[in-house]
Amino acid sequence: MELHGDPLAGLTNWAGNHAYGAARIHEPQSIEELQEIVRDTRPLRVLGSRHSFNDIADTTGHLLSLRLMPRVFELDRAAGTLTVDGGVRYGEFAGALDAAGFALNNLASLPHISVAGACGTATHGSGDRIGNLATAVSALDVVTADGETTVFARDGDTEAFNGAVVSLGGLGVVTSLTLDLQPTFQMRQDLYEHLPLDGAVANFDEITASADSVSLFTDWSEPVVDQVWLKRRVPDGDTFEPPPDFFGATIATVPIHPIRRMSTAALTEQLGVPGPWHERLPHFRMDHMPSSGAELQTEYLIPREHAPDALLAIDGIRDRFASVLQISEVRTIASDDLWMSTAFGRASVAFHFTWQPDWGAVRRVLPDIENALAPFDPRPHWGKVFTMAPETVRSSYAKLPQFAALLERHDPTGKFRNAFLSRYIFAA
Ligand SMILES: Cc1cc2nc3c(=O)[nH]c(=O)nc-3n(C[C@H](O)[C@H](O)[C@H](O)COP(=O)(O)OP(=O)(O)OC[C@H]3O[C@@H](n4cnc5c(N)ncnc54)[C@H](O)[C@@H]3O)c2cc1C
Repeated sequence: MELHGDPLAGLTNWAGNHAYGAARIHEPQSIEELQEIVRDTRPLRVLGSRHSFNDIADTTGHLLSLRLMPRVFELDRAAGTLTVDGGVRYGEFAGALDAAGFALNNLASLPHISVAGACGTATHGSGDRIGNLATAVSALDVVTADGETTVFARDGDTEAFNGAVVSLGGLGVVTSLTLDLQPTFQMRQDLYEHLPLDGAVANFDEITASADSVSLFTDWSEPVVDQVWLKRRVPDGDTFEPPPDFFGATIATVPIHPIRRMSTAALTEQLGVPGPWHERLPHFRMDHMPSSGAELQTEYLIPREHAPDALLAIDGIRDRFASVLQISEVRTIASDDLWMSTAFGRASVAFHFTWQPDWGAVRRVLPDIENALAPFDPRPHWGKVFTMAPETVRSSYAKLPQFAALLERHDPTGKFRNAFLSRYIFAA
């Protein structure tokens, strides 16, 4: 079904920095309709909730949105799993999941993103012991280039599954995902202000181990981490009282936005008030604008043992990029086995940058940051902007040849291939 005559005029990603170059968009309302589109159309890419900052979702041919597909919410209490459709956003079902007594292990900073788009790009939250969002996936249904459905399951062909979950949109249309669950839990967020950078460097492991999910926010304007966010599970009968001091930082007594000039109305509740996991793990509320709204984002993941040196390396060049920056966030992510995951095979620390929405200026400073992180083998977030040479990106993924072969096996004519995949996966 075609959506409009000229459906793509003006359609951009969430940030507005990328106008999709596809000729048409299709919005099927049933699996049969979707399969017919896949059979008859090429080249083709799936659009998630459009929160990526680069051309990863784009194509010169046809886009497919799963926005109008029937929502799926199949809870298997005995197995502890939830199967959802390939178009749903986390914030659309998290409340119902909580009400049913279950939780996901983690969420990103915002609940607005689609599960398929987030998992397909290795989107992550924070937590020393928690993998990225894709690590919760135990099975995927994918409509591949021939229009047929292929199931990839963790307890089936594990190799293919490990390649399929973070697919960068290249394998086909993910029409459903099965996610691991755990019993629902409550969390609290306690914030601290003004952590001296040398304290962060000297105590990095202790700091990130001090809660279930930890974020360090800084604008690098001085050698100080402006805010430390500690998200902690609250078991029944918990009597935890946060100390007033945390490695030299002071406990916050009012809510704070990572970008201090922004309204705190957009934030999930802080100041230690316990609440459900899905209203504490994300920084931002579903019914509000996340982050600053006018921005570009970049993020690099490196092996976490390099965190102290990398903090110092970036601090050493802060004068070069501080004027273009709105805020930086440092998070940790557990290692995983998913071939194209930015945390594949290594416990990681992520250095995130929310930039002013000025690509010309951002493009000039990115090489400085990439050079500063180069000794640590940085992997750029697949959904954000970066300038690293494609061959450098490719060289960081040991399973990249197997991933390319997996895509070729399921899509021999390159129906789901786009410029992004040609640059970062297939170039010789
Ligand atoms: C304000 C903001 C905050 C963010 N915070 C975080 C954060 O905390 N942590 C983090 O890691 N990232 C974060 N991101 C980045 C974001 O999570 C990723 O860009 C993610 O891919 C967005 O998902 P999406 O549904 O918008 O995907 P899109 O950008 O629409 O698509 C991404 C990729 O997924 C593919 N895709 C989508 N749906 C399907 C499907 N059903 N089948 C096959 N392929 C599909 C697309 O083809 C494309 O290749 C943030 C982005 C924004 C704008």
